[in-house]
Amino acid sequence: MKHYSVAIDGPSGAGKSTLARAVAGKFGFLYVDTGAIYRTVGLSALRAGVDPKDAGAVTALLPETRVELSHADDGLQHMYLNGEDVTEQIRTPEVSMAASAVAAYASVRAFLMDAQRDLAKTHNVVMDGRDIGTVVLPDADVKIFLTASAQERAWRRTLELSKRGTPKPYEEVLAELEARDRDDANRTEAPLRQAADAVRLDNTQLTFQETVDAMSEIIQGRIDV
Ligand code: C5P
Repeated sequence: MKHYSVAIDGPSGAGKSTLARAVAGKFGFLYVDTGAIYRTVGLSALRAGVDPKDAGAVTALLPETRVELSHADDGLQHMYLNGEDVTEQIRTPEVSMAASAVAAYASVRAFLMDAQRDLAKTHNVVMDGRDIGTVVLPDADVKIFLTASAQERAWRRTLELSKRGTPKPYEEVLAELEARDRDDANRTEAPLRQAADAVRLDNTQLTFQETVDAMSEIIQGRIDV
């Protein structure tokens, strides 16, 4: 049976996760947050006392790292590290930086590749990340490159952190976000870039609902849902 796949890539803080989840819910597709998978490996390194910037030590940790995911009825993706639910623990700025560091290693990307492809083979998916349209699912039915200005993305992230009770100054959030953008775009392995056949959607000036509508229109223009 043919399964549809929608690949959503873009820099951090463009709202990919929330938007992709909303769009997946609307079409009845499974939402797969691949950033959460890299975050779980980043957390694994931090917990083991391994420097995420030490490629050899992170790679050596992989055989004893079990990363699993499951989906709750409301579509929320839970992440498990060696059997423990770490869905909340992977959302700290420290884990964001660790995820970005470990995501640069070919060993880590290879370790996580099959799980991502298997999900797309067995489900209709909306999958978000950095390299979904370029590397993981190059034949995806729909590819969207979702972006917004760095200032707007940093502002949204600042609000989110303060809502979560872990506030951080805007300037600091902006600097970290720009550093992560730079690392993601300049690495050798699966760098963040727009696939040639992706539709670029800049939501700097759009509301959440307007972005959902624009994404839905792109999807409906390409697949029969
Ligand atoms: O999307 P999120 O901010 O949760 O991703 C965390 C980090 O994981 C990113 O900064 C990026 O380095 C990495 N990542 C990746 N490829 C993906 C998804 C995330 O390299 N498909």
